[in-house]
Amino acid sequence: MAAIRPERLLSVWEQGARRHPIDRALLLYALAAPELPVDQLADAPLGLRNAALMALRQASFGRQLAAWVDCPACGERLEFTLDAADLPPLPSAAPAPVEVAGIRFQPPTSRHLAQVVAAGDPETAARQLLRASAVAAADLPTDAAVLGALLDAVEAALDAADPWADLALDLQCPACGEASEASLDIAGLLWDDIDAHARALLDDIHTLARAYGWTEPEILALSDARRAAYLERVAP
Ligand SMILES: [Zn+2]
Repeated sequence: MAAIRPERLLSVWEQGARRHPIDRALLLYALAAPELPVDQLADAPLGLRNAALMALRQASFGRQLAAWVDCPACGERLEFTLDAADLPPLPSAAPAPVEVAGIRFQPPTSRHLAQVVAAGDPETAARQLLRASAVAAADLPTDAAVLGALLDAVEAALDAADPWADLALDLQCPACGEASEASLDIAGLLWDDIDAHARALLDDIHTLARAYGWTEPEILALSDARRAAYLERVAP
Protein backbone atom coordinates (compact mmCIF):
# COMPACT_ATOMS: atom_id res chain seq x y z
CA MET A 1 0.00 0.00 0.00
CA ALA A 2 1.49 3.35 -1.08
CA ALA A 3 0.93 6.67 0.71
CA ILE A 4 -1.50 9.15 -0.88
CA ARG A 5 0.40 11.57 -3.12
CA PRO A 6 -0.20 15.29 -2.39
CA GLU A 7 -1.97 16.08 -5.68
CA ARG A 8 -4.24 13.02 -5.24
CA LEU A 9 -4.94 14.04 -1.64
CA LEU A 10 -6.22 17.41 -2.81
CA SER A 11 -8.39 16.00 -5.60
CA VAL A 12 -9.97 13.38 -3.29
CA TRP A 13 -10.57 16.03 -0.64
CA GLU A 14 -12.28 18.22 -3.25
CA GLN A 15 -14.46 15.35 -4.54
CA GLY A 16 -15.33 13.96 -1.11
CA ALA A 17 -16.17 17.15 0.78
CA ARG A 18 -19.86 17.22 -0.15
CA ARG A 19 -20.57 13.50 -0.36
CA HIS A 20 -22.65 11.41 2.00
CA PRO A 21 -20.34 9.42 4.35
CA ILE A 22 -21.18 6.11 2.60
CA ASP A 23 -20.27 7.53 -0.83
CA ARG A 24 -17.22 9.23 0.61
CA ALA A 25 -16.05 5.90 2.05
CA LEU A 26 -16.43 4.37 -1.44
CA LEU A 27 -14.39 7.21 -2.94
CA LEU A 28 -11.64 6.48 -0.41
CA TYR A 29 -11.97 2.73 -1.09
CA ALA A 30 -11.34 3.37 -4.81
CA LEU A 31 -8.17 5.22 -3.79
CA ALA A 32 -7.08 2.41 -1.42
CA ALA A 33 -7.86 -0.44 -3.84
CA PRO A 34 -7.20 0.85 -7.39
CA GLU A 35 -7.00 -2.77 -8.61
CA LEU A 36 -10.74 -3.33 -7.98
CA PRO A 37 -13.34 -2.29 -10.63
CA VAL A 38 -15.09 0.84 -9.34
CA ASP A 39 -18.58 -0.56 -10.07
CA GLN A 40 -17.93 -3.52 -7.73
CA LEU A 41 -16.83 -1.54 -4.67
CA ALA A 42 -20.37 -1.03 -3.31
CA ASP A 43 -20.86 -4.81 -3.22
CA ALA A 44 -17.60 -5.60 -1.42
CA PRO A 45 -17.90 -6.72 2.23
CA LEU A 46 -17.50 -3.82 4.69
CA GLY A 47 -14.65 -5.67 6.37
CA LEU A 48 -12.56 -5.60 3.20
CA ARG A 49 -13.41 -1.93 2.67
CA ASN A 50 -12.47 -1.00 6.24
CA ALA A 51 -9.24 -2.99 6.18
CA ALA A 52 -8.19 -1.33 2.89
CA LEU A 53 -8.98 2.12 4.32
CA MET A 54 -6.97 1.37 7.48
CA ALA A 55 -4.01 0.13 5.39
CA LEU A 56 -4.13 3.36 3.34
CA ARG A 57 -4.35 5.43 6.51
CA GLN A 58 -1.32 3.70 8.04
CA ALA A 59 0.70 4.03 4.80
CA SER A 60 -0.14 7.73 4.51
CA PHE A 61 -0.23 8.98 8.09
CA GLY A 62 1.63 6.39 10.22
CA ARG A 63 0.92 3.44 12.52
CA GLN A 64 0.09 5.62 15.55
CA LEU A 65 -3.18 7.30 14.69
CA ALA A 66 -5.36 9.80 16.46
CA ALA A 67 -8.81 8.25 16.82
CA TRP A 68 -12.17 9.04 18.38
CA VAL A 69 -15.47 7.39 19.13
CA ASP A 70 -18.69 9.02 20.30
CA CYS A 71 -20.00 7.64 23.61
CA PRO A 72 -23.24 5.77 22.73
CA ALA A 73 -24.75 6.85 26.08
CA CYS A 74 -24.12 10.62 26.16
CA GLY A 75 -22.59 11.49 22.78
CA GLU A 76 -19.33 12.82 24.27
CA ARG A 77 -16.45 12.49 21.78
CA LEU A 78 -13.66 10.41 23.32
CA GLU A 79 -10.22 10.86 21.76
CA PHE A 80 -7.30 8.46 22.01
CA THR A 81 -4.31 7.14 20.08
CA LEU A 82 -4.74 3.94 18.15
CA ASP A 83 -1.77 1.73 17.35
CA ALA A 84 -1.86 -0.68 14.41
CA ALA A 85 -0.86 -3.46 16.83
CA ASP A 86 -4.17 -3.00 18.72
CA LEU A 87 -6.19 -4.02 15.65
CA PRO A 88 -7.02 -7.47 14.26
CA PRO A 89 -4.74 -8.68 11.43
CA LEU A 90 -5.77 -7.37 8.01
CA PRO A 91 -7.89 -9.95 6.13
CA SER A 92 -6.33 -11.48 3.03
CA ALA A 93 -9.57 -12.76 1.46
CA ALA A 94 -13.26 -11.89 1.40
CA PRO A 95 -15.20 -13.36 4.35
CA ALA A 96 -17.54 -16.25 3.49
CA PRO A 97 -21.32 -16.02 4.06
CA VAL A 98 -22.49 -17.43 7.41
CA GLU A 99 -25.37 -19.85 7.95
CA VAL A 100 -27.56 -19.60 11.05
CA ALA A 101 -30.69 -21.71 11.58
CA GLY A 102 -30.50 -22.84 7.97
CA ILE A 103 -30.53 -19.28 6.57
CA ARG A 104 -27.51 -17.84 4.78
CA PHE A 105 -26.35 -14.27 5.40
CA GLN A 106 -23.83 -12.38 3.29
CA PRO A 107 -21.31 -10.16 5.04
CA PRO A 108 -22.84 -6.64 4.89
CA THR A 109 -21.69 -4.32 2.11
CA SER A 110 -21.80 -0.58 1.40
CA ARG A 111 -24.92 -1.19 -0.71
CA HIS A 112 -26.62 -2.77 2.33
CA LEU A 113 -25.57 0.23 4.45
CA ALA A 114 -27.13 2.61 1.92
CA GLN A 115 -30.40 0.65 2.14
CA VAL A 116 -30.69 1.24 5.91
CA VAL A 117 -29.49 4.85 5.99
CA ALA A 118 -32.98 6.13 6.86
CA ALA A 119 -33.22 4.01 10.04
CA GLY A 120 -33.85 6.24 13.05
CA ASP A 121 -31.35 4.77 15.53
CA PRO A 122 -28.22 2.55 15.41
CA GLU A 123 -30.03 -0.47 16.90
CA THR A 124 -32.74 -0.38 14.21
CA ALA A 125 -30.11 0.17 11.53
CA ALA A 126 -28.13 -2.87 12.75
CA ARG A 127 -31.26 -5.04 12.61
CA GLN A 128 -32.22 -3.77 9.15
CA LEU A 129 -28.66 -4.36 7.97
CA LEU A 130 -28.83 -8.01 9.04
CA ARG A 131 -32.20 -8.41 7.31
CA ALA A 132 -30.78 -6.84 4.14
CA SER A 133 -27.87 -9.27 4.19
CA ALA A 134 -30.12 -12.38 4.32
CA VAL A 135 -29.72 -14.25 1.04
CA ALA A 136 -33.44 -15.19 1.12
CA ALA A 137 -35.23 -12.61 3.31
CA ALA A 138 -38.53 -14.51 2.83
CA ASP A 139 -37.13 -17.35 5.00
CA LEU A 140 -36.72 -15.06 8.05
CA PRO A 141 -39.10 -15.79 10.96
CA THR A 142 -41.98 -13.36 11.39
CA ASP A 143 -42.25 -13.64 15.19
CA ALA A 144 -40.41 -10.61 16.65
CA ALA A 145 -38.81 -12.49 19.57
CA VAL A 146 -37.62 -15.38 17.37
CA LEU A 147 -36.30 -12.92 14.78
CA GLY A 148 -34.50 -10.92 17.48
CA ALA A 149 -32.73 -14.00 18.84
CA LEU A 150 -31.81 -15.11 15.31
CA LEU A 151 -30.37 -11.71 14.41
CA ASP A 152 -28.29 -11.70 17.63
CA ALA A 153 -26.84 -15.07 16.58
CA VAL A 154 -26.23 -13.80 13.03
CA GLU A 155 -24.48 -10.70 14.35
CA ALA A 156 -22.14 -12.86 16.46
CA ALA A 157 -21.43 -15.19 13.52
CA LEU A 158 -20.73 -12.28 11.14
CA ASP A 159 -18.50 -10.56 13.72
CA ALA A 160 -16.44 -13.75 14.01
CA ALA A 161 -16.28 -14.21 10.21
CA ASP A 162 -15.49 -10.57 9.42
CA PRO A 163 -14.13 -8.69 12.46
CA TRP A 164 -13.17 -5.65 10.34
CA ALA A 165 -16.79 -5.00 9.33
CA ASP A 166 -17.51 -3.42 12.71
CA LEU A 167 -14.51 -2.79 14.96
CA ALA A 168 -16.09 -2.27 18.37
CA LEU A 169 -14.18 -0.92 21.35
CA ASP A 170 -15.09 -1.44 25.00
CA LEU A 171 -14.99 1.90 26.72
CA GLN A 172 -15.79 3.58 29.98
CA CYS A 173 -16.89 7.14 29.27
CA PRO A 174 -15.17 9.70 31.56
CA ALA A 175 -18.02 12.17 31.01
CA CYS A 176 -21.04 10.05 31.99
CA GLY A 177 -19.35 6.99 33.55
CA GLU A 178 -21.26 4.50 31.36
CA ALA A 179 -19.43 1.39 30.19
CA SER A 180 -20.40 0.62 26.60
CA GLU A 181 -19.26 -0.60 23.24
CA ALA A 182 -18.57 1.91 20.48
CA SER A 183 -17.78 1.28 16.82
CA LEU A 184 -14.66 2.71 15.26
CA ASP A 185 -15.62 4.72 12.15
CA ILE A 186 -12.57 3.88 10.03
CA ALA A 187 -13.75 5.79 6.95
CA GLY A 188 -14.58 8.82 9.13
CA LEU A 189 -11.14 8.74 10.76
CA LEU A 190 -9.39 8.51 7.38
CA TRP A 191 -11.50 11.38 6.06
CA ASP A 192 -10.59 13.54 9.09
CA ASP A 193 -6.90 12.94 8.35
CA ILE A 194 -7.34 13.74 4.65
CA ASP A 195 -9.28 16.90 5.50
CA ALA A 196 -6.63 18.12 7.96
CA HIS A 197 -3.72 17.33 5.63
CA ALA A 198 -5.45 18.90 2.60
CA ARG A 199 -6.08 22.14 4.51
CA ALA A 200 -2.47 22.25 5.72
CA LEU A 201 -1.24 21.58 2.19
CA LEU A 202 -3.39 24.42 0.81
CA ASP A 203 -1.88 26.74 3.45
CA ASP A 204 1.61 25.72 2.31
CA ILE A 205 0.73 26.21 -1.37
CA HIS A 206 -0.69 29.64 -0.56
CA THR A 207 2.45 30.66 1.33
CA LEU A 208 4.88 29.44 -1.35
CA ALA A 209 2.84 30.80 -4.26
CA ARG A 210 2.82 34.26 -2.67
CA ALA A 211 6.52 34.15 -1.85
CA TYR A 212 7.92 32.69 -5.07
CA GLY A 213 5.14 33.05 -7.66
CA TRP A 214 5.11 29.27 -8.26
CA THR A 215 1.96 27.53 -9.52
CA GLU A 216 0.04 24.88 -7.59
CA PRO A 217 1.34 22.00 -9.80
CA GLU A 218 4.91 23.26 -9.39
CA ILE A 219 4.57 23.35 -5.61
CA LEU A 220 2.88 19.92 -5.47
CA ALA A 221 5.72 18.46 -7.58
CA LEU A 222 8.22 19.32 -4.81
CA SER A 223 9.10 16.52 -2.38
CA ASP A 224 7.80 16.95 1.18
CA ALA A 225 11.37 17.68 2.32
CA ARG A 226 11.93 20.42 -0.25
CA ARG A 227 8.54 21.99 0.35
CA ALA A 228 9.28 22.08 4.08
CA ALA A 229 12.74 23.56 3.48
CA TYR A 230 11.32 26.42 1.36
CA LEU A 231 8.55 27.03 3.90
CA GLU A 232 11.18 27.42 6.63
CA ARG A 233 12.88 30.13 4.55
CA VAL A 234 9.62 31.97 3.94
CA ALA A 235 8.39 31.88 7.53
CA PRO A 236 8.89 35.19 9.33
ZN1 LIG B 1 -20.77 9.11 27.92
